[in-house]
Amino acid sequence: MDNEEILISAVYQLFDNAKSMYGDIIENYWFYDGETCPGCGRQIDTLKFGDEDAISLNAYMYRDMDTLIAYLLCSNCASEIFRKSKKSKAIYPKIEENLKNSYLDFVKKSSS
Ligand SMILES: [Zn+2]
Repeated sequence: MDNEEILISAVYQLFDNAKSMYGDIIENYWFYDGETCPGCGRQIDTLKFGDEDAISLNAYMYRDMDTLIAYLLCSNCASEIFRKSKKSKAIYPKIEENLKNSYLDFVKKSSS
């Protein structure tokens, strides 16, 4: 499998897990596949775990739309959040706002 296939299967797995955890609460699933990090606008890059490259795959529940959004973070934001640093608290609202806007754009485009 190449990286993209690995990513796609990871996203599906995440959606599957979420479905068994939350069931009918989630009506839609969406993957934010932008090139840039929703936390800071940098290019998405990989994290290093020893010799392995890893990506930071996360999910956000957009309750108003009953939609679970999966997204990637850059290595900077991912490590801030992983460390639960003070900065990480400031990253979350940005991520949420960017994801909501992108999703609403997507919905508008697909309905027109
Ligand atoms: Zn970032």
